[in-house]
Amino acid sequence: MSELSGYGPTPFDALRRGRRAVDRLMASMVDNGGMWREVAATQVLLSEASPPIYFQEFTSAEEAAAGADWMWWWVDRDGVCFGLLAQAKILKVNGRQWTIDFGYRTKGDPRSQITKLIKAAEPYQVPAAYILYCGDRKYRATLECDRTHGSVLCRDRERVGVSVVCALVAQRDVSFYGKGAGLEAFHDAVPVEDIASPAGVDNPVHSLVRELDEELAQFLVQPQSGARRVAKELLRPLERIRRGQFSRAGTLERAAPVADALFRDVPTDRGHFSVPYLAHVLRGLRTGVPDYVRDVMEGRTPPAWVTDRFGGIVVIPEADTFG
Ligand SMILES: [Zn+2]
Repeated sequence: MSELSGYGPTPFDALRRGRRAVDRLMASMVDNGGMWREVAATQVLLSEASPPIYFQEFTSAEEAAAGADWMWWWVDRDGVCFGLLAQAKILKVNGRQWTIDFGYRTKGDPRSQITKLIKAAEPYQVPAAYILYCGDRKYRATLECDRTHGSVLCRDRERVGVSVVCALVAQRDVSFYGKGAGLEAFHDAVPVEDIASPAGVDNPVHSLVRELDEELAQFLVQPQSGARRVAKELLRPLERIRRGQFSRAGTLERAAPVADALFRDVPTDRGHFSVPYLAHVLRGLRTGVPDYVRDVMEGRTPPAWVTDRFGGIVVIPEADTFG
């Protein structure tokens, strides 16, 4: 993946540069007896990746100091795009226990932070996700995951220092594994830099749902690139988890179509997830960019209903030209 001479770095190169800078930040903080913070890691990642990655940080968001949620959008050359609402979290170790603080429940609030994040994504019709800052290999040296990733140990995976996982995976992990949820979510997280890269192997995703629309069925089994690939990689662990659940996927019901959605015939199969998982992820896959994303790409400030709500917006342009 070399930088194209005269054309500047590709988005892939830029995200790799950003991830390496975050790896250095994380290692240096640990070496000096400290710990990196979500906000700092996000700032380092994005400032190193820009340009060609666009981003705008909004300082008006209430939770900005604590690391508010960011919108991420991957935009292909033909305008097809995929967006998600992400909260940043750190993979931490406490004795031998590797954890991610997904918030469980806060006093006086019956809703978990994960449920809040999933709800917060609702008005924007995008999936909820976590950006995980997981340190470098040295930091993860004592992490034990009993599952394999090809022939590579979970902790030794390349590029996984900055990763993404769907919030529905984290929610299920918290209810199944409690404090072990961090390790499970880390296992299913995909490096942000890899997520639309053609270098990775894009195996077919098998759905339990039999009556899939033909276009959607093709999307799941054929290799994808760009925005479509990002959506598919977020779906992959969800479909694997779904196949392990006993309830049948006999539903013929369809989710209400989202404006500009690429797939308009999406089953409401839900399994044991809190919401219909296919609809939750695929609603983020659109035929054209929302106006507030266009604003960021063209250097304008998005309207207050966006800037007051998020920590910022990231746009990965030409997402289908990776590599
Ligand atoms: Zn693993």
